[in-house]
Amino acid sequence: MVKVIKPKAGGKKDPVRNAKKESPKEDVPFDLREESLNMLSKFLLGPTDLAMKVRQMEHAQEKEVPEWMAALELMRDHIIKTEDTELKLRMYQAMVEMLAKLGHQEDMHAIQEIIARVNLKTFKEMGFERVEVECAEDCCPNCRQMNGKRFLIDDAMTTMPIPCPDCTTEKYAVHSYCRCRYFAVF
Ligand SMILES: [Zn+2]
Ligand SMILES: [Zn+2]
Repeated sequence: MVKVIKPKAGGKKDPVRNAKKESPKEDVPFDLREESLNMLSKFLLGPTDLAMKVRQMEHAQEKEVPEWMAALELMRDHIIKTEDTELKLRMYQAMVEMLAKLGHQEDMHAIQEIIARVNLKTFKEMGFERVEVECAEDCCPNCRQMNGKRFLIDDAMTTMPIPCPDCTTEKYAVHSYCRCRYFAVF
């Protein structure tokens, strides 16, 4: 099980701790350090925070941890800590972008589902009963079919129509980047 990994290799073959099935694509066309720091900087986190997290994870796991993995873990730490729903959603969305760049389709989809759920829950708490789906202007034909569809929030919570499972929008390194959103219906 012990693998020898060159330092600073970008961790291309490291197992992803939270997504055992998905490893980054071999040819990720992004500078993952730069992308990681970019994502973190939106939340006032910097290279020192990242370096600390890498060390902490490497100490706990007794193996090398790529920076992008530590960056995602840092985001998770902060999502857990914050009570601010808006901030939580922005952090989740930043993770979605990062996972898309890594080509982690399944993880990305899972976090999009969390975002959809948080939105639905928020609308329900505000007293709304229904939501409407709005797609991006340049969405794929499958998403287009969802545009304007209305759901009872309770039903949407169960059936989870978005993120659309059959979305065919290719973006970054993923093949199904649904950008449909819910809006509350007055
Ligand atoms: Zn969609
Ligand atoms: Zn789509």
